[in-house]
Amino acid sequence: MIVSRYDILFEPVKIGPVIAPNRFYQVPHCNGMGHRFPRSLAKMRGIKAEGGWGVVCTEEVEIHPSSDITPYNQGRLWDDSDIANLKLMTDAVHEHGSLAGIELVYQGLAGKNHYTRLPTFAPTHASVLGGYPMQARAMDKQDIKNLRKWYRDAAIRSKKAGFDIVYTYAGHGLSVLMHFLSRQHNDRVDEYGGSLKNRARLLKEVLIDTKEAVGDTCAVALRIAVDELLGKDGIQASAEGSDVIEMLAEIPDLWDVNISSWENDSATSRFSKEGFQEQYTKHVKSLTTKPVVGVGRFTSPDAMVSQIKRGVLDLIGAARPSIADPFLPNKVRDNKLDSIRECIGCNICVSSDNYAAPIRCTQNPTMGEEWRRNWHPEKIKAKHKDDSVLIVGAGPAGLECAHALANRGYDIVIAEKSRVAGGRVLRESKLPGLSEWKRVIDYRLNAIKQMANVEIYYESEVTEENISEFGYENIIIATGALWKKNGQNRDTRRHLKQDGTVKILSPDDIMDGILPDGKVVIYDADNYYMAGVLAEKCRELSLDVTYITPESKVSAWTENTLEQGKIQEKLLQKNVKVKLNHRLNEIQDNRVVVRCVYTGDTQRVSCDSLILVTERHPNDFLYTGNTNTFKNFSLIGDAYAPGIIAQAVHSGRLQAETFGDKDVDSSIFNRDK
Ligand code: ADP
Ligand code: SF4
Repeated sequence: MIVSRYDILFEPVKIGPVIAPNRFYQVPHCNGMGHRFPRSLAKMRGIKAEGGWGVVCTEEVEIHPSSDITPYNQGRLWDDSDIANLKLMTDAVHEHGSLAGIELVYQGLAGKNHYTRLPTFAPTHASVLGGYPMQARAMDKQDIKNLRKWYRDAAIRSKKAGFDIVYTYAGHGLSVLMHFLSRQHNDRVDEYGGSLKNRARLLKEVLIDTKEAVGDTCAVALRIAVDELLGKDGIQASAEGSDVIEMLAEIPDLWDVNISSWENDSATSRFSKEGFQEQYTKHVKSLTTKPVVGVGRFTSPDAMVSQIKRGVLDLIGAARPSIADPFLPNKVRDNKLDSIRECIGCNICVSSDNYAAPIRCTQNPTMGEEWRRNWHPEKIKAKHKDDSVLIVGAGPAGLECAHALANRGYDIVIAEKSRVAGGRVLRESKLPGLSEWKRVIDYRLNAIKQMANVEIYYESEVTEENISEFGYENIIIATGALWKKNGQNRDTRRHLKQDGTVKILSPDDIMDGILPDGKVVIYDADNYYMAGVLAEKCRELSLDVTYITPESKVSAWTENTLEQGKIQEKLLQKNVKVKLNHRLNEIQDNRVVVRCVYTGDTQRVSCDSLILVTERHPNDFLYTGNTNTFKNFSLIGDAYAPGIIAQAVHSGRLQAETFGDKDVDSSIFNRDK
């Protein structure tokens, strides 16, 4: 038998009455599918089990109608009629010999009950979280009794649905059990309030109830936030976080440890690196003999082995790494490490959940498409017949399309204008905080390099004149997009009025090394990451920077990727001047003139260089200007319609999956209804 240094990752782990076949543990994660799209969900989870994850868990699963998380699509287990949907998932997971875990939740202060219109319950009479004008009802003794029964009933239904691990959940500020635990939300004066022992009482009761109800055959896990990163106002690992672990140390069969809130737990690569929760997980491990699972966006098998050998944890918890590569465990097992599709930590997956839409992933275009389009992360149907394809452009769309088409067996040539592959991703990965995004290119280039049927020609610009000379009948244009410098943006089709006194730059200029000087104004009407990272870059160059946006927050859309607060904090810490709620109107005498979005009042801001982060123009002239009749001639990615990187990658995959099927309408897919 060959001994690999990764063998330790494939050791079985006993978790109460069940045994995980290895140490790869997909912790609960949202996916925007939940009870609304059960077949899509089951197939997605089943593919993770197929890829080697020894444990595959659900997302939050509501246990009662008074904890309804509408509009978000989470799991639902209100009564027996919900069992069948969940059984689809456990069957799909068991088919591959993995264990299925369920995260039961009563949201308390985080629930709004938009669908059921029932009141929600909490430790005290208090406003619900998240700005909705509603208060929760303080629970009396009967309410507490009822809640314990709802948990117990849900645990029994979980067992009937086939789950092997049943969670008691007190994390992310999203569970009533955590609201009882945290001083922040509990000011009761009875035996469920006051001391930590009292505040932990309900959590302990539910944990014991669950064990009594299903503990004979199911493992009972406790998922807990050991630090809320709020200092003395919340749970601190160095204080009550430790005390509560000590208090409950040997009760659960498994500790699933993280930090709160979700923004901190699912931190992006812009703010946290692999293994960033180690200190918390390690601390819990030192306080219990029960197995511990922890997360930290682990994609490196060496880092995983080190975590286990150093006694930080027993099971490698992963949400995002399992989304980006459902086959990560099998690739480690088969020593195909360089084919791991590493998560880039962008949280586009999270943004889907925030939109209550089925999950997507920048790295893995098949995520969410497993059932509805029958896509698989590692397999693709063979080509219909021998054919060769010219792809113009080696950005994320072109590379994904080339890789997938080559996997189907087609012969591929990529013509790339520049000296390197990577397009916007390579360029953007050099901006502050975005280095891990390069993995989108690294994964695909590495795969392509090993394939005999793909060739990349660099410094090969395709033009309207020479496109026919390549001699291809099948041509896919993936030439990307360029940032506009004319001022057009989502608020106006008007071109920016200017008198030539200010240097106007686009993000492309900055990435090409054309730098601003003097007083810099960055106008952000894009609202994603670009303007924020350029502000950081300009501060690194010691320039005076003013960030202006019509929105009421910096990088407003990044609320969906859980980054907004951190970005605004960072810019303020770096002394970027921030002007919110103002639209750019014109440039006059070395000043930008801005108008308040509410009153229309104008203000002038001194400016030598203006960076416009507004919108992009598709680089589609090869396609639109071509009158030749090629057999297949398509336009994909940003060249079709500029968007996020995930969209470009998906567009490349969609083109490859449907290539050669003339009669297939790619807008049609299985509807999970
Ligand atoms: P996408 O996100 O859609 O993949 P990118 O802008 O990231 O788009 O990548 C487009 C790639 O196409 C870039 O690497 C660019 O250099 C290349 N490209 C653009 N125009 C041409 C052209 N006429 N011939 C060859 N390559 C081109
Ligand atoms: Fe990772 Fe981004 Fe994919 Fe989420 S969307 S799993 S953060 S690569």
